[in-house]
Amino acid sequence: MTNHYDVIAIGAGSGGLSVAERAASYGAKCAIVEAGELGGTCVNVGCVPKKVMWYGASLAHAIRDAQDYGFDVTAGELNWEKLVMKRDNFIGGINDWYYDYLAGQNIELLEGHARFIDNKTLEVDGEHYTAEHIVIATGGRPIIPEDIPGAELGMTSDGFFNDLDEIQPEKVVVVGGGYIALELAMMMQGFGSDVSILHQGWPVLIGFDEMIQTALRAEMEASHIHIDDDAIISQVEKQDSGKLTLYFEDGTTLAEVDALIWAIGRRPNTDTIGLDNTDVKITDNGMVVVDEYEQTTAPDIYAIGDIIGKAPLTPVAIAAGRRLADRLYGGKPERKMDYDMVATVMFTHPPIGTVGLSEAAAREIYGDTVKVYQTRFVPMYHQLTRHKVKTSMKLIVVGDTEKVVGCHVIGLGADEMLQGFAVAIRMGATKQDFDDTVAIHPVSAEELVTMK
Ligand SMILES: Cc1cc2nc3c(=O)[nH]c(=O)nc-3n(C[C@H](O)[C@H](O)[C@H](O)COP(=O)(O)OP(=O)(O)OC[C@H]3O[C@@H](n4cnc5c(N)ncnc54)[C@H](O)[C@@H]3O)c2cc1C
Repeated sequence: MTNHYDVIAIGAGSGGLSVAERAASYGAKCAIVEAGELGGTCVNVGCVPKKVMWYGASLAHAIRDAQDYGFDVTAGELNWEKLVMKRDNFIGGINDWYYDYLAGQNIELLEGHARFIDNKTLEVDGEHYTAEHIVIATGGRPIIPEDIPGAELGMTSDGFFNDLDEIQPEKVVVVGGGYIALELAMMMQGFGSDVSILHQGWPVLIGFDEMIQTALRAEMEASHIHIDDDAIISQVEKQDSGKLTLYFEDGTTLAEVDALIWAIGRRPNTDTIGLDNTDVKITDNGMVVVDEYEQTTAPDIYAIGDIIGKAPLTPVAIAAGRRLADRLYGGKPERKMDYDMVATVMFTHPPIGTVGLSEAAAREIYGDTVKVYQTRFVPMYHQLTRHKVKTSMKLIVVGDTEKVVGCHVIGLGADEMLQGFAVAIRMGATKQDFDDTVAIHPVSAEELVTMK
């Protein structure tokens, strides 16, 4: 019975690593199956390489701003290859660290592709493994449209991070209106590429507060990103030069494109793991059905992270994994993930931080008892720069107590601003609590506690 474990996690991404790590800390015998690199999407083709590139693009903006502060500097050429090499070395270091870490925690790594044989058994490279508890944490993969001839000549966010390692693309077209599309577009604009965003219908960032959508669009336009709200690609062709020509449904074309990036959504990795051999149910769009305790419809099989389609974010997958292990092995039977009030940041330029309900969502739930406080200003940093990147903030409060149910910020520093406010709002802070908090001066965040 050497192949029997207390817990097997499928996928060594944010969720799988966390559940195994926490369960092992309680003494459970754990294994993780991984078909690719340790760390999953976040470490290899998501948050981490994205944030490195965001820092790079932020430096490009800072060099421009430095001139306005009187420095005799010029931006010069970006050595793309060097940036990508350093980024990839950094990620390689994280991958290596995980190998040592798993060994140190007595978590066995099973390298290969896992497939269910039945509710209790997995097959990995011809070998069978059983466990008391199996956790599906297989994440998702980006989509390339199947019905557009030549679509495969474009790339996804995976390709952006895995394949674009030598030359910075000069002319970039990003298709999509979600946060990944907008982050990649604004990053490449920061690096000096000529960027277009194509998406179908306004608004972008569906589900976000209208103030964020509008302010971000204004900033994209001010940065000379071309935005097309209804361009539909009908065909993609490669020219002899290697560049792409895009053909649109309305008969127009766009030539000399160096990189076409599809950021139109992600597909859950449930189609290749043998779920037919289990009692695990999935939704029409392939997400695993779970209850509030991450329990699937099959006994002792759980699912966490992107695969359940609730809040596809790394800290959510980590928190869900840890809480599940606390419940199974830590003597905390009621422990479960709370998906309310999860704060999140988008690494656009400027960044966006948001927690809680949008104004539209709040009005749907709380009707006329909703009150909104908001402000828009040029932060002190940009008082001296030519390019005045504005900051917008909104607090959404409800009822006589003016309990804060939403907080949304777009502007310099928003990425580092929201975490603390998220704690207060989760604890039930009211507008009065915000008012009673003495401001820090001079910072943009002080506006959140001085709004009238
Ligand atoms: C471009 C991009 C930027 C992002 N930026 C952020 C950000 O800034 N902040 C944030 O919080 N989130 C961000 N995310 C989202 C974040 O990466 C995911 O929410 C997170 O990685 C989900 O973790 P997970 O464990 O569910 O899945 P994953 O991290 O995707 O891990 C799943 C793992 O399972 C493996 N696997 C799949 N099938 C099998 C199988 N059958 N057998 C063995 N192994 C298998 C995969 O190889 C993978 O390693 C970003 C995502 C992308 C794509």
